[in-house]
Amino acid sequence: MCDMCSSPEAVYRIELEGSLLNVCERCASYGRVISKIRVEETPKKKSKKADISKETQAKTEKESETLQIIVPNYAQLIKDKREKIGLKQKELAKKIAEKESVVHKLESGRMKPDIALARKLEKFLKIRLVEEVELSDVNLNSEKKQGLTDTLTIGDLIKL
Ligand SMILES: [Zn+2]
Repeated sequence: MCDMCSSPEAVYRIELEGSLLNVCERCASYGRVISKIRVEETPKKKSKKADISKETQAKTEKESETLQIIVPNYAQLIKDKREKIGLKQKELAKKIAEKESVVHKLESGRMKPDIALARKLEKFLKIRLVEEVELSDVNLNSEKKQGLTDTLTIGDLIKL
């Protein structure tokens, strides 16, 4: 359910004034979208989207919401591993088909990679940059919650 307008479909996880909210597509524009919520189909709900549910159904049986976050120390992880492999920023950039400036910004912590870029780096560098957090864990585990808020920088908040 959307936390803002009570629409039954909450599809985005957004950050708004320091709070995390599950909202519908319409309300997502009020905050900064952190991730798309993967709402797995349950037999109860499936009648609504029966035609597209085949794939989702096969993937998992239980209903779960997972939040994908970039680990706070991504800059260090990327830099350390790149240096370990012995690649220059320029060479790494070429390997992952990005600009050198992108690698530079990532390693200096000035640019947080989106999930797609993080996955690419993870695959190439064999490091872990994306952490999947079950939303129930976020509520229960204060340590993880702390880590999550740490990843929201002042810059992110200003964008709101
Ligand atoms: Zn809404």
